[in-house]
Amino acid sequence: MKSMAQMKCHYGLKVRIYPSDRQKKIIKINSDASRFIYNEMVAINKELMQLRRVKLPIDIVQDRIKQLTMRQNAKQMSNHYQFLEDKRIDSLTKANAIQNYRKAWNAFRKVHATGVPKFHRKSYQRILSRRARRAKQEHRPLRTSKNYQKQRLLVAKLHAQVFERRRDFLHNVSTTLIKNHDFVAAEELRSKNMLKNHALAMSIADVGWRTFLGMLAYKAELYHRQFLTVNPKNTTQACHECGFVMGTAGTEKLTLADREWTCPKCHAHHVRDHNAAQNILTKGIIKLA
Ligand SMILES: [Zn+2]
Repeated sequence: MKSMAQMKCHYGLKVRIYPSDRQKKIIKINSDASRFIYNEMVAINKELMQLRRVKLPIDIVQDRIKQLTMRQNAKQMSNHYQFLEDKRIDSLTKANAIQNYRKAWNAFRKVHATGVPKFHRKSYQRILSRRARRAKQEHRPLRTSKNYQKQRLLVAKLHAQVFERRRDFLHNVSTTLIKNHDFVAAEELRSKNMLKNHALAMSIADVGWRTFLGMLAYKAELYHRQFLTVNPKNTTQACHECGFVMGTAGTEKLTLADREWTCPKCHAHHVRDHNAAQNILTKGIIKLA
């Protein structure tokens, strides 16, 4: 038997189906579930990637990694989200959604250009831009279109969900930090630039450093802990051992690429973020006294 590609002619059949109202509902429930699971897989993997970058030795991060890793199969996910237990959802729908996600990943590994799997957006974005183009052609403002507003709202909702997820994550981190330590010190302000590449960067860039500090502050009060902020000046560039500041005495400043470095004066070897954390703590203790 020849494969499709080997055949000279291809003959296609286009079929239109007329589902009953009940069938329509079932189709909708299944396609919604499929999209939900796929998006959940994307979200889980994004969060896992973030969590694995967190170098803090805190249990809540490790627990969350374990939890999320487990949830990456149809049964566990159904357990977690009760509405997926709906009898009208075909069991293959769930398994296929996960399989499709994995296929997307495999495609990514094979052909790097495909990019990592992204959220299925019901092609809202495409619809939006198509509408925008047409509105421009017809010289009318896009805002007057009712449908446009509807779609825009849905896209906004998706963004809000990601934002919520990240805020939850920062809530977890701040609670754990405060609960498990008598004293916590943090930098007053981190510029956008300094946040690049940082362990918690993705979450913090979205939710804001100030919000994160706010969480730490009110939780410290709640749990009767000490919390204060310090001036971020030179926390990254100064050697914690001898106080030498990189960028002085003819040396080059450390860049974001320098994850580890050796102090040219006392030859101590540092992991950048860890050295910075020690400087912050020292500043905090001095301020506390
Ligand atoms: Zn040094």
